[in-house]
Amino acid sequence: MTVKLLPVFQQLLNDPVVAALAQGGETAWFRGQPIPVADGIERSGISPATVADARARFQRFAPWFADRFPDTRPAYGVIESPLVGAPSTQRALSSLLGRDLPGRLWIKRDDILPVSGSIKARGGIHEVLQLAEQLVAGSFPLDRDGYAQVFTSSGVRKTLGAQGITVASTGNLGLSIGIVASELGFRTTVHMSLDAREWKKELLRSRGVDVIEHDADFSTALIEARETTASSPNTHFIDDEDSLGLFAGYAVAGARLAGQLAALEVPVDANHPLFVHLPCGVGGGPGGVTFGLKLAFGDAVHCVFSEPTRSPSMSLGVRSGLHDQICVEDIGLDGRTAADGLAVGRPSRLVGQRMQDLVDGYVTVSDERMKSLVSLLQDAEDISLEPSATAGFTNPWRILSDDAYLAAFGLDEDCLAAANHIVWTTGGGMVPTAEMNRYMEEGRNILLHTDGADAEVTDSAEIK
Ligand SMILES: *Cc1c(COP(=O)(O)O)cnc(C)c1O
Repeated sequence: MTVKLLPVFQQLLNDPVVAALAQGGETAWFRGQPIPVADGIERSGISPATVADARARFQRFAPWFADRFPDTRPAYGVIESPLVGAPSTQRALSSLLGRDLPGRLWIKRDDILPVSGSIKARGGIHEVLQLAEQLVAGSFPLDRDGYAQVFTSSGVRKTLGAQGITVASTGNLGLSIGIVASELGFRTTVHMSLDAREWKKELLRSRGVDVIEHDADFSTALIEARETTASSPNTHFIDDEDSLGLFAGYAVAGARLAGQLAALEVPVDANHPLFVHLPCGVGGGPGGVTFGLKLAFGDAVHCVFSEPTRSPSMSLGVRSGLHDQICVEDIGLDGRTAADGLAVGRPSRLVGQRMQDLVDGYVTVSDERMKSLVSLLQDAEDISLEPSATAGFTNPWRILSDDAYLAAFGLDEDCLAAANHIVWTTGGGMVPTAEMNRYMEEGRNILLHTDGADAEVTDSAEIK
């Protein structure tokens, strides 16, 4: 592939990782030296109190969720997903990849999070609740027991109905925000990028959400949405490239996961490392979850981001040091991927810069690999995932073959045998059956015609 790049970007190709990203191949690179988590959190400039605040807000709204969303009732309105062991997948992948994975493989099932069936039910919903509280506080009594009544009362719905919420999305963020904002009574507008699936738009329209379709990628749709909103009165724009409200909502997952692991008597410490594998689009979801995990587990948790080879915006932003000043088109990639949830060309301003001392590695994954994993997961675990949600599944094996990383972090054989790997499955629960069947069939064909989509991986280079 020869691409004509601007001189300023051409220079970046001297870096082997950026060069590999530009070639569209699978890459993996990991932190060269540990940075104490306490320092990383300090340097992020993000206060842990932000996360505690979000956690309390979800608690206050739990009675309202239990009232309005039946799928939250079994947990009394708390929006949380199960953590499940995945021995069948671990076996299937070990045999496909030709190497046994020591330790245990788990799946954190955000694909079946209540309300909207994706990880966006954490961040997206949180920012909507934050705004609703702000607008109502002062005019209506807000004691915890009254949340279900207050937010269904006609007075409050009228107040919120005079307010607009606008968001740009590749699909799932719009779905989460649209479903909850419309339920609260907000005038809701969702700008969808060209990757967004049709059923997501239809579902939102059926709930009275105004869906605006863009024949452009996510980054462009977002700029247009931001500009239109600036001139609309009483309208709040939820900015996926730069939102602490979204970030804080995602971060609540950290303490929740700590509780789940403790209940299952899974130790996490220097001798029992925890690896968490997170699909990454703009970076808000994996960034927020990583922040929450580092708060909960400190240096014992390793967080690795996965992106599509055709749209590795976070890898590129962090590796080049240019963050949101560079997009995947600048190195000749088209950004088009079957992983629509991850089809983001320019990374989050908030996450790339502030979280760079806390993220341990970046991996890129081909569309073929993700598609084949959709089928593999269906067969091994009987779970239905969208392609984006599978992006982390082969990373544990990737880490295993990275001697430099293992040495730098003192991860010896005993440590790895006692390790736990959690793959975060970020979406799929609401995908219509016909669409799911198409994913499945495509994936099966790929599995049949390759040796498990085990493509050539560019050797890891260190971060810093
Ligand atoms: C949005 C999304 C992600 C990643 O979240 P970002 O905040 O965009 O990084 C991962 N998986 C799915 C299914 C998503 O919809």
